[in-house]
Amino acid sequence: MRDIKENIIAIKDNISMICSKNNLNENDITLIAVTKTMNCENINYAIENGITDIGENKVQEVMDKYDLINKNVDWHLIGHLQTNKVKYIINKVKLIHSVDSLSLAEEINKRAAKSGIIKDILIQVNVAMEDTKYGISTDEVDTLIDQISLFSNVRIQGLMTIAPLFNEVEKTRPIFRALREKKDEIIKRNIPNVEMNYLSMGMTGDYNIAIEEGSNMIRVGTGIFGKRNYNI
Ligand SMILES: *Cc1c(COP(=O)(O)O)cnc(C)c1O
Repeated sequence: MRDIKENIIAIKDNISMICSKNNLNENDITLIAVTKTMNCENINYAIENGITDIGENKVQEVMDKYDLINKNVDWHLIGHLQTNKVKYIINKVKLIHSVDSLSLAEEINKRAAKSGIIKDILIQVNVAMEDTKYGISTDEVDTLIDQISLFSNVRIQGLMTIAPLFNEVEKTRPIFRALREKKDEIIKRNIPNVEMNYLSMGMTGDYNIAIEEGSNMIRVGTGIFGKRNYNI
């Protein structure tokens, strides 16, 4: 557990360093601790040690852990979301990072309306067009955003991507840059009900580069909690 505390301090220091080198404000960067496969004790310990936002990629894990986690934290759904599971998380997570279809947005809109809330979402973009990843292609972003912008209980807050795992981390840079450019284009279009406050990009191995390329939401799992054990 002590490692978790030290890891958080080290990552925050590193974020400060990257920001001061690149003339960015470190307070603009949200560090999301990715808690998939991690137990509640460790997650609560991380929250006691400065983590304000946590990310899960499975609905089931959000449901299993929700009541056991310190209330003083914001939840993010960062993994693929099936339409039939929206109802389980709609009132639990602050931001859904993985919207990649009109039908999913439609369901979120419907469930949010039922709860009397407006749900903040990000559009997941598969910038590198990897077969193995969810997300729409960069070319499809405008059409999807135009359609979702008409929903009154969903608010687009930005874009999210997962960069491919390259053997050289520097190769992620053009991916992150392309998404930032897409974000800037969308801002210029001034679409009602669409905001571009967040670019969710960068994980343990590549968040340095992501921040340099304009990310303000990084999702760090192993860098905080150590290696994941999927067999528990
Ligand atoms: C697991 C996961 C992360 C964190 O990955 P690490 O390499 O452990 O930092 C970030 N984003 C998503 C969508 C994930 O599923």
